[in-house]
Amino acid sequence: MMGLDRDFENALLSTLLELSIEAVVCVDEHQNIILFNHRAMQVFGYTCDEVVGRPMDMLMPEEYRAVHRQKMQAFIACDSAAPDMQQRTEVVGLRGNGEQFPAETSVSKAHINGTVLVISILQDITEHKLAHEKLAHQASYDALTSLPNRVLLNDRLEHAFERARRDKNRVAVLFLDLDRFKNVNDSLGYAVGDKLLVEVSERLVSRLREEDTIGRLIGDEFLIIMEGLSKAEDAGVLAHKLADSFAEPFIIEGHELYMSTSIGISIFPDDGERKSALISHADVAMFQANKDDKNSYRFYLNELTSAAVERARMESALRRALKQNELIVYYQPQVSLQSGEIIGAEALIRWQHPEMGMVSPAKFIPLAEECGLIVPIGEWVLRTACAQMATWKKRGFALKLVAVNIAGAQITRIDLVDLVATVLAETGLEPQCLELEITEGFVMGDPRHAIRLLHELKNLGVVLAIDDFGTGHSSLAYLKQFPIDKLKIDQAFVRNVTHDSQDDAIVRAIITLGHALELKVIAEGIETLEQQDFLRSERCNEGQGYYYGRPVTAEALEQLLR
Ligand code: C2E
Ligand code: MG
Ligand code: MG
Repeated sequence: MMGLDRDFENALLSTLLELSIEAVVCVDEHQNIILFNHRAMQVFGYTCDEVVGRPMDMLMPEEYRAVHRQKMQAFIACDSAAPDMQQRTEVVGLRGNGEQFPAETSVSKAHINGTVLVISILQDITEHKLAHEKLAHQASYDALTSLPNRVLLNDRLEHAFERARRDKNRVAVLFLDLDRFKNVNDSLGYAVGDKLLVEVSERLVSRLREEDTIGRLIGDEFLIIMEGLSKAEDAGVLAHKLADSFAEPFIIEGHELYMSTSIGISIFPDDGERKSALISHADVAMFQANKDDKNSYRFYLNELTSAAVERARMESALRRALKQNELIVYYQPQVSLQSGEIIGAEALIRWQHPEMGMVSPAKFIPLAEECGLIVPIGEWVLRTACAQMATWKKRGFALKLVAVNIAGAQITRIDLVDLVATVLAETGLEPQCLELEITEGFVMGDPRHAIRLLHELKNLGVVLAIDDFGTGHSSLAYLKQFPIDKLKIDQAFVRNVTHDSQDDAIVRAIITLGHALELKVIAEGIETLEQQDFLRSERCNEGQGYYYGRPVTAEALEQLLR
């Protein structure tokens, strides 16, 4: 302030001091107040007279005083000559009326006429903090229900997982969704819907323990975090309690609303370790609960478990099916492409499940192969088809043979030759009336073994066909050594003949190959006249497909034969 008159300078400084929007408190080296500006009086609620000459720590709550005094002492004692500006720090102030408040302060030191002064510049940040907290609240809490929102829930989940890792226990994540909430919005309006959500959240909160967390994800979806679980079942107890709390109606603006809820549960760490996985697993389980039976809860079954559960269920159902005669054999006609006559029928198994209806063999044969049930099932089909064929022969139907599918597992697990011989003997069927269909994939998998087996079967006098031919990577060298009678062109090639020149060529080649090896060739999956005409012109011997008839019961096939 060069060039200014000293008195003028002093007057200007004290005016600035009094106008300052920050509280200024100046103390001497004994930490007694020597200056207290206008704003300081406002902030602390003291007049100058009440504070000047008294220790500065009267301006803060008692618990902070000792530490503050020490710090100030050190600050005053340190001998740097230059004004030593401290960083702005947050402190707690004490007003004359006993009220505490947050403040931000910066402290500096001055050496004037050989004495040390400490000047604190201080700002009351109460308002600022409130605004900040409000913003933070808005960012973390749902405005409608005041419950934690998705952001905060995510945070809480993370912490819950950390604690569970440390304490070696579990966390349950419950995903709760109101059933038919949309109906309330649609019929009574959003205002009622909103009030209902508030009431629901209050009721849910009242059923939870203090240490559980509940929040709203969006709309009518709530998430509940249950910590310190030793076993997953405990979450079921809570879910039951929550679902139960909906027994009483909600009264909203005079409407009596009976609501229900579906709850899905996933467990950390059993069902996953990531937040997103647990939330989405709980969501999947909720969806299942909602679909199966409203106002209920479901645990998430991870894919592995659910596949295993499904398999076990299917297996026991299949076991029962065999005992309780749910299995039937259908027959699909096979015709001579030259004469158009029905010459044979393929036996195709069907499962008439009491609830699922007709189950396709494509679904249960692979399962039966895996669990070994194919052995009794295959034996049953063979016996049934042979007995049926014997009856047809006896009754004079002009059918030459019945074709029975043989699964790979039937060949590897039992003595097939022995079984076929036994069944033929039991049913009195002539062996040339039985055709066995063995897939190309299976015989080519172990061709040396296949050659031996096929010879043994051939010695019984049965007809042998290679099923699904064209899909199993045949080796010509082996094919020549198999004592087979027929190639059955897979329907995948037949499907596109006359439309796909490549498939035309493959079918043509299979027929030529078959004839070169002195085999008959049958095409399966013929659905149209064009396909039949193409195959006939290529001199394919036999055909099978919807064009001639779908697989039907024995009685229905008899109708066809008449
Ligand atoms: P596969 O032996 O190749 O049997 C032919 C399949 O094609 C049958 O399906 C038949 O219904 C179907 N099919 C027949 N004509 C047509 C047609 O024109 N168009 C179409 N799109 N499909 C046609 P299915 O009965 O569902 O049998 C599927 C597979 O299940 C069979 O294939 C066979 O591998 C297996 N399977 C069926 N019954 C038995 C059985 O008793 N024992 C064993 N081991 N396997 C069986
Ligand atoms: Mg077949
Ligand atoms: Mg086939």
